Amino acid sequence: MRPCGLSRLGIPLHRRDAQCSGRAVLFSSSSAGRFASLRIEWAVEENITMSQNELDTTDGSRRRGVSTADQLGGRLTVFVTEEELMDSGHELPEGYTCPLCCLPIALPAAKHSLLETCCMKRICKGCVVASRQRGMGNVCAFCRTPTPGSGAATLAQVRKRVDAKDPSAIDYLAHAYYDGDYGLQQDIPRSIELWTEAANLGDSNAHLKLGNIYYMGVSVKQDKRRGIRHWQHAAIHGHPGSRHALGFYEGLNENHELAVQHYMISAKMGDQGTLNAIKDMFMKGHATKVQYAEALMGYQKALEEAKSPQREEAKAFFNEND
Ligand SMILES: [Zn+2]
Ligand SMILES: [Zn+2]
Repeated sequence: MRPCGLSRLGIPLHRRDAQCSGRAVLFSSSSAGRFASLRIEWAVEENITMSQNELDTTDGSRRRGVSTADQLGGRLTVFVTEEELMDSGHELPEGYTCPLCCLPIALPAAKHSLLETCCMKRICKGCVVASRQRGMGNVCAFCRTPTPGSGAATLAQVRKRVDAKDPSAIDYLAHAYYDGDYGLQQDIPRSIELWTEAANLGDSNAHLKLGNIYYMGVSVKQDKRRGIRHWQHAAIHGHPGSRHALGFYEGLNENHELAVQHYMISAKMGDQGTLNAIKDMFMKGHATKVQYAEALMGYQKALEEAKSPQREEAKAFFNEND
């Protein structure tokens, strides 16, 4: 994996640890009503050039990530208020639940599950092992399609799902072009095109990738504000990596209280990297002991909820420690 600035700063540019539900809903009707007046107000102000990423509103709340829906960089919310940002996305999306045992998949999901390219379902390792124990080796535990025997066959499966406009498959193919996997020539502009398509279909992983790319200016003109908007969009849909990125961004700008609020959400989803970030903030005096304790308890609760005897057996099978 090629190192990048963002990964050196603690935000992984590559994060195949989850599949989002593909939901394209931007706001609930109640929240849309709640913020309708602000949206109209913003539409008037849209042509104003901002030097900052946030403005104070007349009611004292702050709003961020302002944009019209943008087909070029992945469809984005019109804007999101700080209240909305902090009130939404506290639960992991549907793609983080194993469709066979219906338990949440522990983070990082790539470590604790397998993504089946035939149906693009993420199956927990507990169910993978159980399937093999029932003599169903070399077939998908979900749809029973035979496991592809080569990279080319895997790619063919993915392309079939891409043709069917499966956002997870488009995200997968984008990674393949980005990394030059499966015999593909590395093609970063093509991967950005694909992530944009997946983001337009509501894929939160693609929003995270576009967030990283625009924030860092990887093969595109650097646009930090756009990058942050992508993270915000994914975070309000429960994407833990994007929530972590927002926490990191706020910490970088010395907005420690906001950073803790973001980190608290992803720590309670079971993200160990985030928990470590809060611990680090506590050690530096930027988070309180109570906040760190709350994050730790939430993190441990998430871990417990993702446990099952079948999954413990899988850990032994794959010789994993945690
Ligand atoms: Zn399962
Ligand atoms: Zn399958």
